[in-house]
Amino acid sequence: MAYVINDECISCGACEGECPVSCIAAGDGKYEINADECIECGSCASVCPVGAPVAE
Ligand code: SF4
Ligand code: SF4
Repeated sequence: MAYVINDECISCGACEGECPVSCIAAGDGKYEINADECIECGSCASVCPVGAPVAE
């Protein structure tokens, strides 16, 4: 289980600095979460303007 950033991501970068375990990075066309490191805190989802990070 981890959060995943869907295709709604507009690459604003707001989530990257909010992640307590620094597992978010810019990817190909959108930001991506390292599922092995995500602790499911939900901080990325709370700051995202388009609701792109979702719990899987
Ligand atoms: Fe990082 Fe928390 Fe988002 Fe997981 S849910 S990517 S730990 S901010
Ligand atoms: Fe993408 Fe949302 Fe993160 Fe911005 S805050 S980079 S739109 S997932």
